Amino acid sequence: MFENKDESRTPISDLGEFGLIDHLTKHVEIKRSSTIKGIGDDAAVINSEEERVMVVSTDLLVEGVHFDLSYMPLKHLGYKAVMVNLSDIYAMNAEATQITVSLAVSNRFPVEALEELYSGILTATKLYNVDLVGGDTTSSTSGLVISITAIGQVASDEVVYRSGAGENDLLVVTGDLGAAYLGLQVLEREKQVFQANPNAQPELDNYTYLVERQLKPEARKDIPKLLRDLDVKPTSMIDISDGLSSEIIHLCKNSEVGCNLYEDKIPLDPQVISTCEEFDLDSTTIALNGGEDYELLFTIKTEDFPKIKANPNLTVIGHITGKKDGMHLITRADTKIPLIARGWNAMEKE
Ligand code: ADP
Ligand code: MG
Repeated sequence: MFENKDESRTPISDLGEFGLIDHLTKHVEIKRSSTIKGIGDDAAVINSEEERVMVVSTDLLVEGVHFDLSYMPLKHLGYKAVMVNLSDIYAMNAEATQITVSLAVSNRFPVEALEELYSGILTATKLYNVDLVGGDTTSSTSGLVISITAIGQVASDEVVYRSGAGENDLLVVTGDLGAAYLGLQVLEREKQVFQANPNAQPELDNYTYLVERQLKPEARKDIPKLLRDLDVKPTSMIDISDGLSSEIIHLCKNSEVGCNLYEDKIPLDPQVISTCEEFDLDSTTIALNGGEDYELLFTIKTEDFPKIKANPNLTVIGHITGKKDGMHLITRADTKIPLIARGWNAMEKE
């Protein structure tokens, strides 16, 4: 899995910049009625639907900083790069509608590698019903840089910011936490085994969920719709890209409130629990600081609790307090400890 077995290598220079753009984007289809003009002119043209506002978000992914191609297949990288951006749009309670994709590539990458990357990007656009409407392509002296911009639309009175949480609101998280970080640990371990012995077969059977969460994360497209169906408008929302702890801190600081988060409420997949035992890691630390979960964290008014309580996608993990009360984790042993932000980059150095 750590080798590129593809024998065919067409240098990018065979196609040239324009030939490459045409080649990579020839299968792009426009599905959205709001896309008036996609790829092919100086700028894309997008219709803003009545009563809706546009939301825009950009992320930059740099080889060696945000991804390692020795265990991240390019197709997965393309898919994940789109998910990272769509997640930010959903965190505004919006519907994602268009993306642009910009690339800086070194000539170490053959055309076939970029085809792989684009197959992941295009799969993501199909499954999430967003149009690829443009981008930019340039050369790089080393490595691959991918920048994606995502555009979404939402009724102006349905936008949810990080800043709206109020005292006594409930703190809710979607899905489960910590799996993507552990998936990375499993892949790092297998990479080392492979480097020591290239004939070793990766042993990933017990970690399928973890590896999938790392290599093929899904953004929570379903949540803005689910909340609308349940007739719940969150008071604040943020996506969990850097770890629960740091995102809760962002949300509380933006809303000028405190919070109590309950350790025993944090949703964990059974594979996270068993792998933490095996690797001798504390599952709460991993859930709080692991990152890359791409779940949504939001607050709701207490009166909305009956509307969400039966939903298996949603878990109440705490509540909002006054700013002067601070931000705390209430442990299983019922001790109160201050929440601290440690993104997964910081954890890497330990
Ligand atoms: P310009 O010179 O105006 O920047 P380009 O020649 O770079 O235009 O791009 C031509 C068209 O192809 C534009 O519509 C642009 O948005 C699109 N495009 C360029 N690179 C990419 C890419 N990597 N992915 C998708 N569309 C792209
Ligand atoms: Mg250009």
